[in-house]
Amino acid sequence: MGIWLEGKPLAEKIKEDVRRQAAHFQQTMGKVPGLTAVLVGENPASQVYVRSKERACKALGLFSEILALPGDISQAFLEEKIDELNGRNEIDGILVQLPLPPQIDSYAIICRLSPDKDVDGLHPFSLGTILANKTGFRPCTPLGVVALLKEHRIPIEGRDAVVIGRSLLVGKSLAAMLTNENGTVTTCHSKTKDLSQVCSRADILVAAMGREVFVKPEFVKPGATVIDVGINSVSDPARVKEYFGEDEKRQKDLQSKGYTLVGDVHPAAIERAGAMTPVPGGIGPLTIAMLMQNTLDAFKRRRGITAPP
Ligand code: NAP
Repeated sequence: MGIWLEGKPLAEKIKEDVRRQAAHFQQTMGKVPGLTAVLVGENPASQVYVRSKERACKALGLFSEILALPGDISQAFLEEKIDELNGRNEIDGILVQLPLPPQIDSYAIICRLSPDKDVDGLHPFSLGTILANKTGFRPCTPLGVVALLKEHRIPIEGRDAVVIGRSLLVGKSLAAMLTNENGTVTTCHSKTKDLSQVCSRADILVAAMGREVFVKPEFVKPGATVIDVGINSVSDPARVKEYFGEDEKRQKDLQSKGYTLVGDVHPAAIERAGAMTPVPGGIGPLTIAMLMQNTLDAFKRRRGITAPP
């Protein structure tokens, strides 16, 4: 039976450091890092994510604002808004909450961001810096995964890592980052053959698919580190019981919220894994901490601050 790799302790440590540095800049320069989240339309999940990011900023003493725009705006209008944000000196980070409405070309919008404010790390320039293994913004979730592995001194160099999922936001970026850390990386996706066999070779197995408990315990090499990035909501009591048995907390979740969260990996995989991240409480808290850290880094880079305060 492996150990659970909780994300919260590291997330708190990172946030505490951001809070301390923001207070220092407030005192010495009268300025704090600032983040604008651009929210287009009424997508309820996006509204929740954006608000939680705003709350996190405020709790750490960063400036934060939400630019909420109607769902029927044009490409040109949104590009104009991005240009305005690019030009505002007190804004260090711009986060465009995805998905954008269908009439908007998301890629063109991300490309419009000033790369030095790209705290989500999705601008092609930022992605290029991953491939070049140079300094630049990294997408927050992969950054959290690598930070968690390092925090727990889980070696990457020379290890076989398998990443299931190839989105820019998670899988593909993480695969490149693990390669930069000298891991031997295999990227899997929906067309991969014999997925379970490929996974069973992994010393580090990352699931970022968005498929409820797709990764079964037998996919996991005994002793492997399993990183479960997936977040899926399950409301069927029979399935909750199948995944978590009589776990009290899950039953409570079901009763109070009508659902509980489950990853892409079956929770029973902990029996074979050396270590595994829980869902919730694994990578999720790190993603938001990394966004705070990227915003602080943007503030510092834009002002040429290199020395640690
Ligand atoms: P995405 O853009 O939908 O990508 C999913 C990837 O999984 C795709 O590359 C897809 O392959 C692959 N996939 C789907 N079904 C598969 C299958 N049966 N076998 C093998 N590969 C399969 O999703 P995403 O944005 O990367 O997010 C992935 C998950 O992570 C979601 O559950 C999301 O909610 C979660 N997430 C969590 C956090 C966090 O903070 N913890 C942050 C971001 C995302 P194809 O490319 O072939 O379609």
